Amino acid sequence: SIMPATLAAVSNGAKRGILFKGGVHLEELGSLKAIAFDKTGTLTTGKPVVTDFHVREDADSDKTLAILSSIEAQSNHPLAMAIVAYAEEQGIFARESPQIEDVPGYGLRATVDNEEILIGNPRFVGIEETTVFSDGIVQRFFVEGKTVVFMKDTKGIVAAIALKDTLRPEAVSAIKDLSNLGIRSIMLTGDNEQTASAIATEAGLDRYVSECLPEMKVQRLKELMSEYGSVGMVGDGINDAPALATATSGIAMGDGTDVALETADVILMKNDLTRIPYAVKVSKKMQRIVK
Ligand code: ADP
Ligand code: MG
Repeated sequence: SIMPATLAAVSNGAKRGILFKGGVHLEELGSLKAIAFDKTGTLTTGKPVVTDFHVREDADSDKTLAILSSIEAQSNHPLAMAIVAYAEEQGIFARESPQIEDVPGYGLRATVDNEEILIGNPRFVGIEETTVFSDGIVQRFFVEGKTVVFMKDTKGIVAAIALKDTLRPEAVSAIKDLSNLGIRSIMLTGDNEQTASAIATEAGLDRYVSECLPEMKVQRLKELMSEYGSVGMVGDGINDAPALATATSGIAMGDGTDVALETADVILMKNDLTRIPYAVKVSKKMQRIVK
Protein backbone atom coordinates (compact mmCIF):
# COMPACT_ATOMS: atom_id res chain seq x y z
CA SER A 1 0.00 0.00 0.00
CA ILE A 2 1.17 3.51 -0.76
CA MET A 3 1.84 5.75 2.21
CA PRO A 4 -0.04 9.07 2.32
CA ALA A 5 3.36 10.85 2.45
CA THR A 6 4.32 9.19 -0.84
CA LEU A 7 1.05 10.11 -2.45
CA ALA A 8 1.45 13.75 -1.45
CA ALA A 9 5.05 13.83 -2.68
CA VAL A 10 4.11 12.29 -6.03
CA SER A 11 1.40 14.84 -6.69
CA ASN A 12 3.66 17.64 -5.52
CA GLY A 13 6.35 16.34 -7.94
CA ALA A 14 3.94 16.62 -10.86
CA LYS A 15 3.43 20.30 -10.04
CA ARG A 16 7.20 20.72 -10.10
CA GLY A 17 7.72 19.13 -13.51
CA ILE A 18 8.56 15.57 -12.48
CA LEU A 19 6.13 12.77 -13.22
CA PHE A 20 6.32 9.46 -11.33
CA LYS A 21 4.49 6.47 -12.75
CA GLY A 22 3.74 5.26 -9.25
CA GLY A 23 4.92 5.97 -5.72
CA VAL A 24 7.45 3.15 -5.73
CA HIS A 25 9.54 5.03 -8.31
CA LEU A 26 9.85 8.05 -6.06
CA GLU A 27 10.93 5.73 -3.22
CA GLU A 28 13.58 4.10 -5.45
CA LEU A 29 15.25 7.41 -6.32
CA GLY A 30 16.45 7.83 -2.75
CA SER A 31 18.42 4.59 -2.94
CA LEU A 32 20.44 5.42 -6.07
CA LYS A 33 24.22 5.24 -5.81
CA ALA A 34 24.96 6.27 -9.40
CA ILE A 35 23.17 7.65 -12.44
CA ALA A 36 24.09 6.94 -16.06
CA PHE A 37 23.30 9.68 -18.57
CA ASP A 38 22.92 9.36 -22.31
CA LYS A 39 24.81 12.23 -23.96
CA THR A 40 22.97 13.55 -27.02
CA GLY A 41 19.58 15.02 -26.15
CA THR A 42 20.02 14.28 -22.45
CA LEU A 43 23.13 16.03 -21.13
CA THR A 44 23.17 18.17 -24.25
CA THR A 45 20.33 19.99 -25.96
CA GLY A 46 20.55 17.47 -28.80
CA LYS A 47 20.70 20.19 -31.42
CA PRO A 48 24.27 20.12 -32.67
CA VAL A 49 25.49 22.67 -35.20
CA VAL A 50 28.16 22.28 -37.88
CA THR A 51 31.19 24.37 -36.94
CA ASP A 52 33.69 23.20 -39.58
CA PHE A 53 33.48 21.55 -42.97
CA HIS A 54 36.86 20.38 -44.26
CA VAL A 55 37.25 18.74 -47.71
CA ARG A 56 40.07 16.86 -49.40
CA GLU A 57 42.20 19.11 -51.67
CA ASP A 58 41.14 17.48 -54.95
CA ALA A 59 37.43 17.55 -54.10
CA ASP A 60 34.86 20.20 -54.97
CA SER A 61 33.50 21.57 -51.71
CA ASP A 62 29.94 22.38 -52.90
CA LYS A 63 29.54 19.13 -54.80
CA THR A 64 30.75 17.13 -51.81
CA LEU A 65 28.38 18.99 -49.51
CA ALA A 66 25.48 18.39 -51.92
CA ILE A 67 26.07 14.62 -51.94
CA LEU A 68 26.57 14.58 -48.18
CA SER A 69 23.37 16.47 -47.50
CA SER A 70 21.27 14.41 -49.94
CA ILE A 71 22.30 11.31 -47.98
CA GLU A 72 21.85 12.85 -44.52
CA ALA A 73 18.42 14.15 -45.58
CA GLN A 74 17.25 10.50 -45.41
CA SER A 75 18.18 10.21 -41.73
CA ASN A 76 16.54 11.76 -38.67
CA HIS A 77 19.67 11.55 -36.50
CA PRO A 78 20.41 14.92 -34.81
CA LEU A 79 23.78 15.07 -36.58
CA ALA A 80 22.07 14.47 -39.93
CA MET A 81 19.59 17.29 -39.34
CA ALA A 82 22.44 19.65 -38.43
CA ILE A 83 24.34 18.78 -41.61
CA VAL A 84 21.28 19.33 -43.83
CA ALA A 85 20.62 22.69 -42.13
CA TYR A 86 24.25 23.70 -42.68
CA ALA A 87 24.08 22.81 -46.38
CA GLU A 88 20.89 24.82 -46.79
CA GLU A 89 22.57 27.82 -45.15
CA GLN A 90 25.22 27.52 -47.87
CA GLY A 91 22.44 27.56 -50.49
CA ILE A 92 22.72 23.82 -51.17
CA PHE A 93 19.42 21.96 -51.16
CA ALA A 94 19.22 18.18 -51.54
CA ARG A 95 17.58 17.26 -54.85
CA GLU A 96 18.25 13.54 -55.07
CA SER A 97 17.11 10.94 -52.55
CA PRO A 98 19.67 8.17 -52.67
CA GLN A 99 18.86 4.85 -51.06
CA ILE A 100 20.58 4.66 -47.72
CA GLU A 101 21.36 2.06 -45.11
CA ASP A 102 21.25 3.39 -41.55
CA VAL A 103 23.75 1.71 -39.24
CA PRO A 104 22.82 2.88 -35.69
CA GLY A 105 25.77 4.11 -33.65
CA TYR A 106 27.99 4.19 -36.74
CA GLY A 107 26.51 6.19 -39.61
CA LEU A 108 25.04 5.84 -43.09
CA ARG A 109 25.93 3.89 -46.22
CA ALA A 110 24.66 4.99 -49.64
CA THR A 111 25.32 4.57 -53.34
CA VAL A 112 25.45 7.76 -55.43
CA ASP A 113 26.26 7.57 -59.17
CA ASN A 114 27.44 3.98 -58.68
CA GLU A 115 29.91 5.07 -56.04
CA GLU A 116 29.68 3.78 -52.48
CA ILE A 117 29.70 6.55 -49.91
CA LEU A 118 30.15 6.02 -46.17
CA ILE A 119 29.32 8.75 -43.66
CA GLY A 120 29.92 8.28 -39.97
CA ASN A 121 32.41 7.78 -37.18
CA PRO A 122 36.10 6.78 -37.64
CA ARG A 123 35.44 3.09 -37.06
CA PHE A 124 32.64 3.04 -39.61
CA VAL A 125 34.76 4.62 -42.36
CA GLY A 126 37.73 2.49 -41.29
CA ILE A 127 40.30 5.09 -40.33
CA GLU A 128 42.70 5.95 -37.57
CA GLU A 129 41.33 9.44 -36.90
CA THR A 130 44.69 10.98 -36.06
CA THR A 131 46.22 10.21 -39.44
CA VAL A 132 43.54 11.67 -41.69
CA PHE A 133 44.28 15.12 -43.18
CA SER A 134 47.93 15.90 -42.53
CA ASP A 135 47.55 19.25 -40.78
CA GLY A 136 46.21 17.93 -37.45
CA ILE A 137 42.87 19.60 -38.04
CA VAL A 138 40.80 16.58 -36.93
CA GLN A 139 42.87 16.30 -33.76
CA ARG A 140 42.01 19.91 -32.96
CA PHE A 141 38.26 19.23 -33.44
CA PHE A 142 38.42 16.43 -30.89
CA VAL A 143 40.32 18.52 -28.33
CA GLU A 144 37.57 21.12 -28.70
CA GLY A 145 35.01 18.47 -27.70
CA LYS A 146 33.48 18.39 -31.16
CA THR A 147 31.92 15.33 -32.75
CA VAL A 148 33.52 14.59 -36.10
CA VAL A 149 31.65 12.89 -38.91
CA PHE A 150 33.72 11.51 -41.80
CA MET A 151 32.66 11.05 -45.40
CA LYS A 152 34.42 8.43 -47.49
CA ASP A 153 34.23 7.84 -51.24
CA THR A 154 36.12 5.32 -53.41
CA LYS A 155 39.29 7.45 -53.20
CA GLY A 156 39.30 7.66 -49.42
CA ILE A 157 38.25 10.23 -46.87
CA VAL A 158 36.77 13.17 -48.75
CA ALA A 159 35.42 15.31 -45.91
CA ALA A 160 35.47 15.83 -42.15
CA ILE A 161 32.49 17.60 -40.62
CA ALA A 162 32.87 18.94 -37.09
CA LEU A 163 29.76 19.50 -34.99
CA LYS A 164 29.29 20.96 -31.57
CA ASP A 165 26.37 20.22 -29.32
CA THR A 166 25.82 22.40 -26.26
CA LEU A 167 25.42 21.15 -22.71
CA ARG A 168 22.03 21.89 -21.20
CA PRO A 169 22.49 25.06 -19.14
CA GLU A 170 21.58 23.31 -15.87
CA ALA A 171 23.65 20.14 -16.45
CA VAL A 172 26.65 21.26 -14.38
CA SER A 173 24.61 22.26 -11.33
CA ALA A 174 22.46 19.10 -11.51
CA ILE A 175 25.58 16.91 -11.53
CA LYS A 176 27.12 18.89 -8.67
CA ASP A 177 23.94 18.51 -6.58
CA LEU A 178 23.90 14.76 -7.25
CA SER A 179 27.52 14.55 -6.19
CA ASN A 180 26.66 16.34 -2.92
CA LEU A 181 23.96 13.71 -2.38
CA GLY A 182 26.61 10.99 -2.80
CA ILE A 183 25.46 9.97 -6.27
CA ARG A 184 28.02 9.40 -9.03
CA SER A 185 27.20 10.59 -12.55
CA ILE A 186 28.42 8.65 -15.56
CA MET A 187 27.99 9.55 -19.25
CA LEU A 188 27.37 6.92 -21.92
CA THR A 189 28.22 8.07 -25.45
CA GLY A 190 28.96 6.77 -28.91
CA ASP A 191 31.54 9.50 -29.32
CA ASN A 192 35.24 8.71 -29.29
CA GLU A 193 37.49 8.89 -26.23
CA GLN A 194 38.79 12.44 -26.74
CA THR A 195 35.43 14.06 -27.50
CA ALA A 196 33.82 12.22 -24.59
CA SER A 197 36.61 13.28 -22.23
CA ALA A 198 36.28 16.97 -23.24
CA ILE A 199 32.51 16.94 -22.66
CA ALA A 200 32.82 15.04 -19.37
CA THR A 201 35.23 17.68 -18.08
CA GLU A 202 32.89 20.47 -19.18
CA ALA A 203 29.95 18.82 -17.40
CA GLY A 204 31.89 17.93 -14.23
CA LEU A 205 31.22 14.21 -14.60
CA ASP A 206 32.92 11.57 -12.50
CA ARG A 207 33.11 9.01 -15.26
CA TYR A 208 32.23 8.36 -18.88
CA VAL A 209 32.01 5.42 -21.23
CA SER A 210 33.06 6.37 -24.79
CA GLU A 211 32.41 4.46 -28.04
CA CYS A 212 29.36 2.96 -26.39
CA LEU A 213 27.28 1.46 -29.20
CA PRO A 214 23.48 1.65 -28.79
CA GLU A 215 23.20 -2.10 -28.18
CA MET A 216 25.98 -1.91 -25.58
CA LYS A 217 24.13 0.53 -23.31
CA VAL A 218 22.27 -2.23 -21.43
CA GLN A 219 25.47 -4.21 -20.93
CA ARG A 220 27.33 -1.15 -19.59
CA LEU A 221 24.42 -0.35 -17.30
CA LYS A 222 24.40 -3.90 -15.90
CA GLU A 223 28.13 -3.56 -15.20
CA LEU A 224 27.50 -0.28 -13.37
CA MET A 225 24.70 -1.98 -11.39
CA SER A 226 27.00 -4.76 -10.25
CA GLU A 227 29.58 -2.15 -9.27
CA TYR A 228 27.33 0.38 -7.50
CA GLY A 229 24.05 -1.43 -6.72
CA SER A 230 21.09 0.85 -7.44
CA VAL A 231 21.72 2.79 -10.65
CA GLY A 232 19.45 5.22 -12.51
CA MET A 233 19.49 5.82 -16.24
CA VAL A 234 18.51 9.09 -17.92
CA GLY A 235 17.82 9.09 -21.65
CA ASP A 236 15.69 10.42 -24.48
CA GLY A 237 16.09 8.14 -27.49
CA ILE A 238 14.69 4.88 -28.86
CA ASN A 239 18.17 3.48 -28.28
CA ASP A 240 17.93 4.28 -24.59
CA ALA A 241 14.68 2.39 -23.96
CA PRO A 242 16.25 -1.02 -23.11
CA ALA A 243 18.62 0.65 -20.62
CA LEU A 244 15.75 2.68 -19.12
CA ALA A 245 13.91 -0.61 -18.55
CA THR A 246 16.97 -2.26 -16.97
CA ALA A 247 17.92 0.54 -14.56
CA THR A 248 16.70 0.75 -10.95
CA SER A 249 15.08 4.03 -12.03
CA GLY A 250 14.51 4.79 -15.71
CA ILE A 251 14.24 8.55 -16.23
CA ALA A 252 13.15 10.05 -19.57
CA MET A 253 13.45 13.58 -20.87
CA GLY A 254 10.00 15.06 -21.56
CA ASP A 255 10.96 15.82 -25.16
CA GLY A 256 12.20 12.26 -25.61
CA THR A 257 10.84 9.75 -28.10
CA ASP A 258 7.57 7.96 -27.31
CA VAL A 259 9.35 4.67 -26.60
CA ALA A 260 11.58 6.34 -24.00
CA LEU A 261 8.58 8.01 -22.36
CA GLU A 262 6.64 4.74 -22.28
CA THR A 263 9.52 2.72 -20.85
CA ALA A 264 10.66 5.16 -18.16
CA ASP A 265 9.50 5.15 -14.52
CA VAL A 266 9.99 8.89 -14.17
CA ILE A 267 9.58 11.72 -16.69
CA LEU A 268 11.27 15.12 -16.53
CA MET A 269 8.39 17.02 -18.09
CA LYS A 270 10.34 20.24 -18.66
CA ASN A 271 13.61 18.49 -19.57
CA ASP A 272 15.11 20.04 -16.45
CA LEU A 273 17.98 17.90 -15.09
CA THR A 274 17.96 19.68 -11.70
CA ARG A 275 14.62 17.95 -11.02
CA ILE A 276 16.60 14.74 -10.48
CA PRO A 277 18.60 15.83 -7.39
CA TYR A 278 15.44 17.62 -6.20
CA ALA A 279 13.43 14.38 -6.37
CA VAL A 280 16.25 12.41 -4.75
CA LYS A 281 16.13 14.82 -1.81
CA VAL A 282 12.34 14.46 -1.54
CA SER A 283 12.69 10.67 -1.65
CA LYS A 284 15.34 10.60 1.09
CA LYS A 285 13.27 12.90 3.28
CA MET A 286 10.24 10.65 2.78
CA GLN A 287 12.23 7.55 3.74
CA ARG A 288 13.05 9.24 7.04
CA ILE A 289 9.38 10.08 7.64
CA VAL A 290 8.20 6.55 6.77
CA LYS A 291 10.80 4.97 9.07
P1 ADP B 1 25.37 9.58 -29.16
O1 ADP B 1 26.07 8.68 -28.21
O2 ADP B 1 26.02 10.93 -29.17
O3 ADP B 1 23.87 9.65 -28.88
P2 ADP B 1 25.01 7.81 -31.55
O4 ADP B 1 25.16 6.52 -30.83
O5 ADP B 1 23.66 8.14 -32.09
O6 ADP B 1 25.58 9.05 -30.67
O7 ADP B 1 26.04 7.84 -32.77
C1 ADP B 1 27.42 7.61 -32.53
C2 ADP B 1 28.25 8.16 -33.66
O8 ADP B 1 27.88 7.52 -34.91
C3 ADP B 1 28.06 9.64 -33.91
O9 ADP B 1 28.89 10.42 -33.07
C4 ADP B 1 28.47 9.74 -35.39
O10 ADP B 1 29.87 9.81 -35.53
C5 ADP B 1 27.98 8.43 -36.00
N1 ADP B 1 26.66 8.58 -36.64
C6 ADP B 1 25.50 7.97 -36.30
N2 ADP B 1 24.48 8.30 -37.13
C7 ADP B 1 25.01 9.19 -38.04
C8 ADP B 1 24.48 9.93 -39.15
N3 ADP B 1 23.22 9.86 -39.53
N4 ADP B 1 25.34 10.74 -39.81
C9 ADP B 1 26.61 10.83 -39.44
N5 ADP B 1 27.17 10.18 -38.41
C10 ADP B 1 26.40 9.35 -37.71
MG1 MG C 1 20.10 10.74 -26.88
